[in-house]
Amino acid sequence: MRALDRFRFGNAAAKVDLVLDGPIPWADARIAQAPTVHLGGTRAEIAAAEAMVARGRHPEHPYVLLAQPDGFDVGRNPAGMNAVWSYTHVPRGSTIDVTERVLAQLERFAPGVRDRVVAARCTTGAELGEYNANYVGGDISAGAVVLRQLLARPVLSTEPWRTPAKGIYLASSATPPGPGVHGLSGWHAARSALRHEFGIDAGAVSLA
Ligand SMILES: Cc1cc2nc3c(=O)[nH]c(=O)nc-3n(C[C@H](O)[C@H](O)[C@H](O)COP(=O)(O)OP(=O)(O)OC[C@H]3O[C@@H](n4cnc5c(N)ncnc54)[C@H](O)[C@@H]3O)c2cc1C
Repeated sequence: MRALDRFRFGNAAAKVDLVLDGPIPWADARIAQAPTVHLGGTRAEIAAAEAMVARGRHPEHPYVLLAQPDGFDVGRNPAGMNAVWSYTHVPRGSTIDVTERVLAQLERFAPGVRDRVVAARCTTGAELGEYNANYVGGDISAGAVVLRQLLARPVLSTEPWRTPAKGIYLASSATPPGPGVHGLSGWHAARSALRHEFGIDAGAVSLA
């Protein structure tokens, strides 16, 4: 429990989902071919926006990660409409509705997009945390991804997937190798459980 006290959560994501009455009017038509688009302007602009979030503030021109499933799975669209999902980084626990800021950023690269918006919904950082208790304060990485916590995730151990409680294992991005490597935490946890609960050696599990 003492070791877990040192575990730190990261900042949050806030989602902005849109329904448009047509495709996004990208200034550069090639962007329509990308399922996922990272909007932020120059590297310096993105760095400035992210630095503000790190200081606990909401950037006026946020970095936005946007998915436009239209090009590869129209089944995700409401009839005759175009679904767009996006998220941006906000301070942990944020209750701010960032729809306007995200739309303004999108408008920079797709002039006229506002006129296509039929519906918009923001899920704040705090609401993401309520929707999924694993996203504490809206932290979709289940723990800050900093050098120390790549290993001490959630505690420093040669088998962090195994807890001191008998028969309880963690198969989560709160364990190595962390978020963005979907499935691998569970793969390690399963091997650890097989070894300790059933005496089956299914391959190396140790970080050591
Ligand atoms: C909008 C969004 C976009 C994302 N984009 C990406 C991306 O592009 N790339 C990427 O790598 N990652 C992305 N992620 C992060 C990724 O989804 C997570 O890192 C990953 O899902 C974490 O997996 P997990 O198994 O640790 O936990 P989760 O997938 O969060 O699963 C935890 C489960 O446990 C349940 N739970 C929580 N508490 C309890 C409880 N007390 N009792 C019972 N059940 C409980 C929850 O309901 C949930 O079903 C994104 C997340 C969000 C929200």
